[in-house]
Amino acid sequence: MAHDHEHDHADGHSELDETELRVRALQTVLEQKGYIDPAALDEIVDTYQTRVGPRNGAQVVARAWADPAFRDWLLRDASAAIASLGYTGRQGEHMVAVENTDEVHNMVVCTLCSCYPWPVLGLPPVWYKSAPYRSRAVRDPHGVLADFGVTLPPGKQVRVWDSTAEVRYLVIPQRPAGTEGLGEAQLAALVTRDSMIGTGLPRLP
Ligand code: FE
Repeated sequence: MAHDHEHDHADGHSELDETELRVRALQTVLEQKGYIDPAALDEIVDTYQTRVGPRNGAQVVARAWADPAFRDWLLRDASAAIASLGYTGRQGEHMVAVENTDEVHNMVVCTLCSCYPWPVLGLPPVWYKSAPYRSRAVRDPHGVLADFGVTLPPGKQVRVWDSTAEVRYLVIPQRPAGTEGLGEAQLAALVTRDSMIGTGLPRLP
């Protein structure tokens, strides 16, 4: 499986970190004991790595930008609005959408572990699961945003949402200026993964 943190060296060998070694060891034992079917496991991993990802969330955001009725529904009942586009499944059963405005910027973290809305964003990036992000997002959200290269207008409030096993958040970024003539597909192309976590802003057209 392709890992974004499995680094290849110039001499061709690749190095696994301790967590990856433990995962592989555990997987081998479970397979040998017959508890898991490697093909089924590959299928799950492939689903979340290639077929379910941030493009799903981008479609949701683009629809919200283009269709005020859908936006209202999304803010009222995100789980139902998102399911209407076909994005359902594990780790997305109870979704809440939070909308960025001129006054407020929203950012999502899971301080306890790595809860993340899989059906709309796929698997969480490595930094999302890291201890520094999880602790600093709450203590110093402006500092974290600066690290991500995000500068907000002075006076804008940052609201941090702590994901749990029950509730997963999707940030609806502000629609960039100059996108009035764009269709949903073009709008979706502007929506980055990080802009839906709140650690980034959408691309400009
Ligand atoms: Fe978590």
